[in-house]
Amino acid sequence: MRAQRRRRNGFRSAAYMAPVFLLAVAALIMQYRWVQRNRYKFTSPARIRIIRCDHCGGSGEVRTPGGRLEPCPICFGGGSRIVRRYYEEDRLCPVCAGMGRIISTNGMATTCPRCGGRGMIRSSVARGGR
Ligand SMILES: [Zn+2]
Ligand SMILES: [Zn+2]
Repeated sequence: MRAQRRRRNGFRSAAYMAPVFLLAVAALIMQYRWVQRNRYKFTSPARIRIIRCDHCGGSGEVRTPGGRLEPCPICFGGGSRIVRRYYEEDRLCPVCAGMGRIISTNGMATTCPRCGGRGMIRSSVARGGR
C-alpha cells in the first residue's frame, strides 16, 4: 500500500518535472552553442601567443642577395606576430609555424595555404596526440 502511493507520487512529480527539465536542457544547449560561436569574445590574454618570425630572426629585416636590408616579407617588418587560440584544438600551423605566410617555391612570400594566414589550424588529432 505504502509502496504503491510512493510510486504514484513519483510518477506525478516526474510528469511535472519533464517539461521543466527539457526546457533547462534546451536552454543549456542554446547557451553552449552561443558560447561556441562567440568564443573569441572570451579569449583571454593567455590564449594569445607571440610568434617570433623565423625568416628574419625577429629583426623585421632581411638582407637581400645584393646586400641591402629590406622589410621582411613574412612579418612585414614587424619581427613577430600575434596569434590567438580560439579553440582547444588549435595548434600552430606546421607549414608556416604560426606566421601565416610562407616563402613559396618561386621565392615570393604568399599567404600560407594550410591555415589561410591565420597561423593556427584546428586539429582534432591534437587532442589525443601531441
Ligand atoms: Zn620576419
Ligand atoms: Zn600556416
